[in-house]
Amino acid sequence: MRIVALAGGIGGARFLRGLLAAVGPQDEITVIGNTGDDIHLYGLKVCPDLDTVMYTLGGGINEEQGWGRADETWSIKAEMKEYGVGPEWFGLGDRDFATHLVRSQMLTAGYSLSQVTEALCVRWQPGVRLLPMSDDRVETHVRITDEQGTRAVHFQEYWVKLHAAVDAEAIIPVGADTAEPAPGVLEAIAAADVILFPPSNPVVSIGTILAVPGIREAVAAAPAPVVGLSPIIGGAPVRGMADKVLAAVGVEAAAEAVALHYGAALLDGWLVDTADEDAVAGVEAAGIACRAVPLLMTDVDATAEMARAALALAEQVRA
Ligand code: GDP
Ligand code: CA
Repeated sequence: MRIVALAGGIGGARFLRGLLAAVGPQDEITVIGNTGDDIHLYGLKVCPDLDTVMYTLGGGINEEQGWGRADETWSIKAEMKEYGVGPEWFGLGDRDFATHLVRSQMLTAGYSLSQVTEALCVRWQPGVRLLPMSDDRVETHVRITDEQGTRAVHFQEYWVKLHAAVDAEAIIPVGADTAEPAPGVLEAIAAADVILFPPSNPVVSIGTILAVPGIREAVAAAPAPVVGLSPIIGGAPVRGMADKVLAAVGVEAAAEAVALHYGAALLDGWLVDTADEDAVAGVEAAGIACRAVPLLMTDVDATAEMARAALALAEQVRA
């Protein structure tokens, strides 16, 4: 079976770990990763979502945090601070720095982000084919209004520095309109037997991937069933501040509303948590097959069970 999954960072990566545990060795998983969170820091290109997937599946992740490296040290950051060079609010540890150095060195030498990602994965062996959504630069910006007036800030500044404490007025994937899908992305979608939307952020993770011209169209046109899992349980994100960016696009933080936001043109099936059993009828009325199953990724076994439920729903809608 050829499985394609669109993925952001933590939610995507944890789901993929369960998916890998649920499938057999003959199944092939291609992950299309969000690069809208990418940021240039200290002259280096940082790809937080690609790295979260790579470290999580490759066994290098800081489990408690969900991002960054395990057993991390912070000497470089402390030294930079002595020079008055920040930003202080973004956590880049010493081990993590090595990844960004290798990536930036290869990009400067002329390799594409897909080639660099493939090279980094030689070390991490994530067990999936990890493709950036695009080799072109896309950066999600957020329009906010605070005491400094109305302005656009980089998504990382909004999320990490401001903790999404001010309302997001608009989410703009800068550069997406002229970006092209990375090599292999459209081919993988067209050749897939199943397409999955993990419980990643529907706006700034999956939404950004779908904003690359051609990707949304390819998913909608793909012969494979498309099944998503809700990142919203009981009217709130399980982790993080997805409600803030959902509000910016006029979508309620509710499992049903997120399914309708993707819509029947993209989704054939949708899983909600058992706490959201009430949402099933409304989602089905919109033409999307829906089941309520436990959706908390408490451990790999529970997550593998979620992945099995998603694959089972895909089989049902295929028939
Ligand atoms: P990010 O890039 O690190 O923010 O990660 P993603 O976009 O891939 O995933 C973020 C989403 O994962 C958040 O909106 C959370 O609600 C969701 N999430 C995190 N843990 C769980 C979980 O255990 N179950 C479900 N259903 N969603 C989760
Ligand atoms: Ca992210």
